[in-house]
Amino acid sequence: MARIDLVDLAHSYGGGTYALKPMTMTWRQGGAYALLGPSGCGKTTLLNIISGIVTPSQGKVLFDGNDITHASTRERNIAQVFQFPVIYDTMTVGENLAFPLKNRGLPRDKIAARVGEIAKLLDLTPYLDRKAVRLSADAKQKISLGRGLVRPDVAAVLFDEPLTVIDPHLKWELRSKLKALHQALDLTMIYVTHDQTEALTFADTVVVMHDGAVVQSGTPEDLFARPAHTFVGYFIGSPGMNIVPAGVKGREAVVSGHVIGLNRSYDNLPAGGKIEIGVRPEFVHVADPAPGLLSAQIERIDDLGRVRFARVRIGDVKFAATVPNGVAVPEKTVGLVFDPAHIHVYSDSLLVEGRA
Ligand code: ATP
Repeated sequence: MARIDLVDLAHSYGGGTYALKPMTMTWRQGGAYALLGPSGCGKTTLLNIISGIVTPSQGKVLFDGNDITHASTRERNIAQVFQFPVIYDTMTVGENLAFPLKNRGLPRDKIAARVGEIAKLLDLTPYLDRKAVRLSADAKQKISLGRGLVRPDVAAVLFDEPLTVIDPHLKWELRSKLKALHQALDLTMIYVTHDQTEALTFADTVVVMHDGAVVQSGTPEDLFARPAHTFVGYFIGSPGMNIVPAGVKGREAVVSGHVIGLNRSYDNLPAGGKIEIGVRPEFVHVADPAPGLLSAQIERIDDLGRVRFARVRIGDVKFAATVPNGVAVPEKTVGLVFDPAHIHVYSDSLLVEGRA
């Protein structure tokens, strides 16, 4: 496994626009990463640059400090697992798992031991002597995962939406299994997905991409508690973070003419920026309307069983807030009670650090 550095890396497929905007970042040796973002944000382009399928139009890729920007996938010693199973139907499950090791000339006893270990971790042991052709799509994708994980010496294992073809009830099981596999095998893994649940369950570091750029890289808790960009706030969480235009001065934000107290002071806002405050629905709750509270109009209630969210409007702005347990919801107008410790201030979509 390897530490991977991207140095001033960018990519354009032509036509002058960047599919990947200039970035410099490091992927730790042995880390479990998820690369998360919506369709078209550049995830696959970045993954293919790391694996060597795409050569970047600018910048360098380093593995353990060595420049491999122009090296082939084979020379990079990368394993990749794609959306759809890549296996040999005519081979047995065991032969499929052994193939990448045979290809690299490993001795037979080492191959048998490693195939046995990977088959056990993926619950494939009972199928080792079965031909792959007759197995279900789920089982075939498990073999693909096994083939990706079987080589102990790879620089990194890259997964490109590997659970797309997996039956929904098995997805949860395989997601947790992949996390356990990462711990057992000690490999650098990068897992591409547009599904936040997949990303947050698998990864210890989630790298969020938006419009060709990495907007935040952090633990699931970082992304939830301190989104560095309004996109992260909105994309992570269900419902996502409320982002509301505001006037901010010192320790006060003004939304629709109403003053909301802040925990930190903001005298340092960049001039001319678009100022917004962000607060997760978990940290604002509805109450009966009262003179000191920002008022909002109820549109509907989403009852998720353990928690209820009120979908409300503040003027033209849509907003979500928690309905405390045991509270009956007024039919039309509510007051909103904010937790100042969890209100963030953004200038042109970027988090601003306030002063304590
Ligand atoms: P998805 O989840 O839909 O695969 P993604 O986040 O992986 O999306 P990319 O596939 O990397 O995004 O695409 C990033 C941008 O580059 C998109 O605008 C896409 O249209 C463009 N793009 C991707 N591959 C090519 C290509 N071979 N030629 C030209 N443009 C491309």
